Amino acid sequence: MRLPENFIQEVVERTDIEELIGRYVTLKRAGANLKGLCPFHSEKTPSFTVTPAKRMFYCFGCHAGGSAITFVQKAENLEFTDAVEFLANRIGLPLPKTAALPSEREGVSRKRVLEMNLEAAKFFRSCLFDPRYGAEGMDYLKGKRGLSEATIKHFGLGFAPNGFGMLTDHMHRLGYTDEELQTAFLCGKSQKTGRSYDYFRNRIIFPIIDPLGNVVAFGGRVMDDSKPKYLNTSDTPAFRKSNHLFALNFAKNCSSEQMILCEGYMDVIALHAAGFEYAVATLGTAITPSHARIFSKYTKKVIISYDSDQAGQNAANKAMQILGEVGMEVRVLKLSGAKDPDEYIQKFGSDRFRHVLEQSRTGFEHKLEAILSKYDLELGSDKIRASSELCEMIAGYNSPVERAVYQAHVAKRLGLGEDVIKNSVERIRQKRMAEYRSRESREAQASIKNFGDRINPDSARDPKAAAAEECVLGLLLIYGEYRKAVADGTVSLSADDFVTSFHRSVFEKMMEMEQSELGFRFELFGERFSPDEVGRIQKMEVTRQALTQNGPQVFRSALDALHAVREEKEVEKGGIDAHLEYMRKKKQLHKGKVDPK
Ligand SMILES: [Zn+2]
Repeated sequence: MRLPENFIQEVVERTDIEELIGRYVTLKRAGANLKGLCPFHSEKTPSFTVTPAKRMFYCFGCHAGGSAITFVQKAENLEFTDAVEFLANRIGLPLPKTAALPSEREGVSRKRVLEMNLEAAKFFRSCLFDPRYGAEGMDYLKGKRGLSEATIKHFGLGFAPNGFGMLTDHMHRLGYTDEELQTAFLCGKSQKTGRSYDYFRNRIIFPIIDPLGNVVAFGGRVMDDSKPKYLNTSDTPAFRKSNHLFALNFAKNCSSEQMILCEGYMDVIALHAAGFEYAVATLGTAITPSHARIFSKYTKKVIISYDSDQAGQNAANKAMQILGEVGMEVRVLKLSGAKDPDEYIQKFGSDRFRHVLEQSRTGFEHKLEAILSKYDLELGSDKIRASSELCEMIAGYNSPVERAVYQAHVAKRLGLGEDVIKNSVERIRQKRMAEYRSRESREAQASIKNFGDRINPDSARDPKAAAAEECVLGLLLIYGEYRKAVADGTVSLSADDFVTSFHRSVFEKMMEMEQSELGFRFELFGERFSPDEVGRIQKMEVTRQALTQNGPQVFRSALDALHAVREEKEVEKGGIDAHLEYMRKKKQLHKGKVDPK
């Protein structure tokens, strides 16, 4: 489906980009721009910029950039058209009548998947409350887990009956096709017959609801011993596991001070029921950097409350590191006498849990105890090993104040002088710094050669051409009068002058827009290019803009460089005759007799 270009333009013009991005990122004013921590890569100092006057954003760290549409594509994981639709809905702009109906679209849209999920959630809920299907499930939730009916309703829990076709038949009656149901992961496809069957069977259903209130996926827990114990929706057009947290839709409303990260749905539900409505869980996966970025949007402090067994504690260590990388304050809960928070609250009550929560240990204390517990400090050799492991850990802290506090602490625990610990930490830091510098310079060299440029792979072969092209495109992006000069032929420049294919197609799209009725509109690059590619286009503009000299003579000489590269290429292809002709022209040019064009 293609949306009319003037509609896309209207959506972009009527979207308040500051307000839109402000919902995802805390922005602070910095002159004409706004700055904040980039939602697309992990960072501690802001390099993410929004320029409301130009309706653009750009990150100087990861080079994500573009219009409000590009932002929504990246933040909500949407296709271009769906992102435009998303923005149109926000500002209450009806879609143009010419937009295709869902059935005419290619593939299955995010919107369609969300509609199906909502219907499925209603179906699962009615099954849970129908004793013919949901008696066993209800018994488990109320009897075994001690949940109240209010809690069950609050989370919209449901039940998938033990059959192969109940949901499938229900959804067919509502007009959804097998292909759609399979794309939404509500149905599987039988290898033998090719027919659809219910994906979730004989399971308690936990709907996953995003902060906007959409049912994006489901988790299902078995009633019998079949495997797996928990089954989750796989990635669909509306859902990516690593972009969601269970119960964030509730937790986000009371999360400003802290959030509790649990391992399972039942832990979260038990905590919410006990009054801790800022508990969330990942969806059957380990925590990822994108989860960490979600946390950093909503809260300052995360308390990890994983299972008390070894596997749980290892996972907690990993989570601590990932959350620490986005600058979160992280604490770890130590629960003794119960295997998880759910059991702990059932056994000891919520007041005691609140007390443990207040006593939660900092990341440092947790790691310190974990290391010390491995060694017998009475033994000299163990003490040496413990001290070297602890120094390695302290060396990882970037704040000198934090390091000083921890060094003193460790020296005391080990009965060693503070200087000894301090010197050893400094040695480790220096060694790491040297390693880091050499790695950085290797990476910088590699990027000079443009190895691994996924967006414009041709630039590795033609770095000189790519650089000249970037300069020309950057200037064309900034100055409308240059684009006009190219369009009306005052300046001789055509797609053939571009050696690298990415730059060539950027030029083509740019001139296509320039010559259209609507004129050049940056956001329309999104019709042809992916969000990463749009970011690269934005980078060319921003990089150019940062330079002080951008006058016509710069444009002229970049064009000359581009033409020269092209001529060289032709000479390479054309053999000796072309070469002689080229040399002759060059000589005359030096005498100022012939115009090179
Ligand atoms: Zn970034």
